[in-house]
Amino acid sequence: MGKMQEYIDEAEAALLHTYNRYPVVFDHGEGVHLYDIEGKKYLDFVSGIGVFALGYGVKEYNDALKAQVDKLLHTSNYYYNVPAIEAAKALKKISGMDRVFFTNSGAEAVEGAIKTARKYAFLKDGRTDHQIIAMEHSFHGRTFGALSVTGTQKYRDPFEPMIGNIRFAELNDIESVKKQVNDKTCAILLETLQGEGGIRPAEEAFLKELRALCDEKDILLMLDEIQCGMGRTGEYFAWQRYGVKPDVMTSAKALGCGVPVGAFLMTEKVGSASLVAGDHGTTYGGNPLGGAAICEVLREFEEKKIPQNAAKVGSYLYEKLEEVKAAHADIIDHRGLGLMQGLEFDHPVAEIINKALEKGLVLINAGSNIVRFLPPLVITEEHVDEMLKVLKECL
Ligand SMILES: *Cc1c(COP(=O)(O)O)cnc(C)c1O
Repeated sequence: MGKMQEYIDEAEAALLHTYNRYPVVFDHGEGVHLYDIEGKKYLDFVSGIGVFALGYGVKEYNDALKAQVDKLLHTSNYYYNVPAIEAAKALKKISGMDRVFFTNSGAEAVEGAIKTARKYAFLKDGRTDHQIIAMEHSFHGRTFGALSVTGTQKYRDPFEPMIGNIRFAELNDIESVKKQVNDKTCAILLETLQGEGGIRPAEEAFLKELRALCDEKDILLMLDEIQCGMGRTGEYFAWQRYGVKPDVMTSAKALGCGVPVGAFLMTEKVGSASLVAGDHGTTYGGNPLGGAAICEVLREFEEKKIPQNAAKVGSYLYEKLEEVKAAHADIIDHRGLGLMQGLEFDHPVAEIINKALEKGLVLINAGSNIVRFLPPLVITEEHVDEMLKVLKECL
């Protein structure tokens, strides 16, 4: 029995079985390639689900983290630290938002956004029965608040009751949203481009109508940019392409490029009338290591023009996947923006993904019938061609 299988067996004996894992143990990465512990090379079109935007083995990034490790890893949020201050300033600059709260994960950022919305509304009218509208097919994470606003019933059902007062509407159907609005509505939450739920972009007209509706009724528009943000669609945040600015937004995944960090951000209007000292906290969030990671990620994003590369290579990928779709009758749709795209098939795609893995290409699904393309944002057109060659062999 190979060493790889031994590790897999040990993993299955020790870890809680909450994932159906692919039969590979990765060891290291270089650029847009991963290597397993037996030395086999893989082209990575998943980037750890949209995390490793800069690719693997980036010296400046690794050096920045090592320097911070040697200096100071952690203080408490009861004290200030320079990396977190610099990270917050840099995030404000790219987002145009005014206030930042750092977390350790995406779900934790969503929790913070939900608490912000409830507190904002509570301070306005003193009520404790506010409602949040979320979208069908959405995904916001696995903790209770985040799960409660996740629009896939099978993820929620075994864990009922949820936090309550959540209503679901259809993405890109403004009437379905308006039907759910009443005087208790405090926020509308959505992914600007849905990820796990099937790579479904919110349409520009829908976002603009939501913005107008929220302005009219003083409801907070909250955009989850955890997967679609950080350059992936060609802008730092996907909403920037439409000019529809949220009141609250979340970020994580590529924000740390491998260091577990997240954030929720808000405008001054919300920041000055919601959470205050004692309302919210976290031990690790915004610690010096996380701050150093975010600073270096954002520095490299600017220096290497990462969002611009995602736009350029993303439109090449779009063109090529259109050709693939045209050539295969079982592909029923192709959706996405920038380097976040999906091909929807009329059958499950597990076999395609397994075949690709055998051939040294890492792909992932989104739902059972969609192959998702989520490569590191530093890929080139040549890598896209390389990926397509393998993909076509697998179809
Ligand atoms: C991954 C994801 C989350 C949850 O992030 P975690 O870091 O896994 O908690 C939330 N929202 C969206 C859109 C995501 O893609």
